[in-house]
Amino acid sequence: MPPAPQRAIPSVDRLLHAIAPSDLPRPFVVQALRHHLAALRSAPAIPDFETLVADLNQILAATARQRLQPVINGTGILAHTNLGRAPLSTAALAALSSVAGGYSNLELDLDSGERGPRAAYLEQSIALATGAPAATVVNNCAAALILILRHFTAGPRQEVIISRGELIQIGGGFRIPEILESSGARLREIGTTNQTTLDDYAQAIGPHTALILRVHRSNFFMEGFVQSPSIADLARLAQERAPEFGPAGLPLVEDLGSGAWVDLARLAPLDHEPQPHESLQAGADLVCFSGDKLLGGPQAGLIVGQTERIRALKKDPFFRALRCDKLVFAALQATVESYLHARSTRDAPPPEGIPMLDLMRIPLETLHGRGEAILTRLGTLAIQVTLGEGRSQIGGGVCPRSHLPSVNLVIRPHTQSVEALSRQLRHHPTPILAFIANDTVQIDLRTVFPHQDDLLVQALQRALSLT
Ligand SMILES: *Cc1c(COP(=O)(O)O)cnc(C)c1O
Repeated sequence: MPPAPQRAIPSVDRLLHAIAPSDLPRPFVVQALRHHLAALRSAPAIPDFETLVADLNQILAATARQRLQPVINGTGILAHTNLGRAPLSTAALAALSSVAGGYSNLELDLDSGERGPRAAYLEQSIALATGAPAATVVNNCAAALILILRHFTAGPRQEVIISRGELIQIGGGFRIPEILESSGARLREIGTTNQTTLDDYAQAIGPHTALILRVHRSNFFMEGFVQSPSIADLARLAQERAPEFGPAGLPLVEDLGSGAWVDLARLAPLDHEPQPHESLQAGADLVCFSGDKLLGGPQAGLIVGQTERIRALKKDPFFRALRCDKLVFAALQATVESYLHARSTRDAPPPEGIPMLDLMRIPLETLHGRGEAILTRLGTLAIQVTLGEGRSQIGGGVCPRSHLPSVNLVIRPHTQSVEALSRQLRHHPTPILAFIANDTVQIDLRTVFPHQDDLLVQALQRALSLT
């Protein structure tokens, strides 16, 4: 006879009828139920039926929260990697919905009716916008870098010259030296963390050199006794030494990371962020950067530079494994066109309608007005919500030194911990991502879209009336 507790385990069917309705696919619900019941078989005691149902409801709600879904970004970090980086423009969304739901001329020449090049118009637009002779697109900037490194170190020359000051880590698990080595390249580290001279580069160039790599130290800054040659100095050096390298020359590659296409100082009090056209003008052969950081488009890795080198990269068999799909092309094409349309005159202001840029230029008064309106609408709660000074950040490893002045909702819960309140906000049907500072829960209004203010008010009323 089985031990008593096992007999107390209710049937899957009975539980399925008792749990709260869920829009999770049924196999998920059944699986969660079976797992839970299986775990109970080895538990010392079986909870009563109501407790079991409540536990299951919690498990299913937690599973549902793991689905990809919209959230309200109250962190004040504009290009938050955990929150999907750049929100897309209305134009990009329209392009997505018109191209994605049907067939498109993705790889077809509508003139000849024959197979055509993928994204030729997009590549030309990117080249035009960055003043590059040629351009191409892969899945992300890490992929762009790996493609470049693999391609140029595939032959007998395998050394990549890089300054020790640029062997950086970008986000979780993306370390430049590891990327380099996994691409089959050999690292030739030169200089020290804070000092690398042009002479260090000159001395490292030899028969094994495949390329010189510069990585923009986007996510931190160094001050004090710091020196490294400019991209223009490196370009002159690469040119001088080119004869040692035959017709292919000595490529100078720059990984810019963030890929701003406008001078950020024109939008907000931000540090200068290098732009691809500046690197190309200074003499870089190839420049790669992300599509979903400062550019404000979909996840993509853009490569701009010399026509021959871009052509060679596109012919590399590995390129096929990194190519983008129609969704990325559609959204990126619309984003790039927004920049080009805005360039009708030489000194035209940066484009409007790209959320990444629009969020940067929201004036403080506007945020104050919205904050006041939210406080009024919150009415009398058991708890005081106030407005505080905010400091939004660009995020995505960009402009680590700069902050945008902002307005925060500041909530000091008294019957629950700040952690409990933040969790409760994350568990709202439209999850709200707040942050904790000075023992308060805060929501930076710059990254909350105005159309989300209603939801924010509702969520706060719900969370705080319980506090
Ligand atoms: C962000 C960043 C990358 C990685 O870009 P992804 O598009 O996320 O792959 C590479 N290099 C630098 C310098 C970066 O800042």
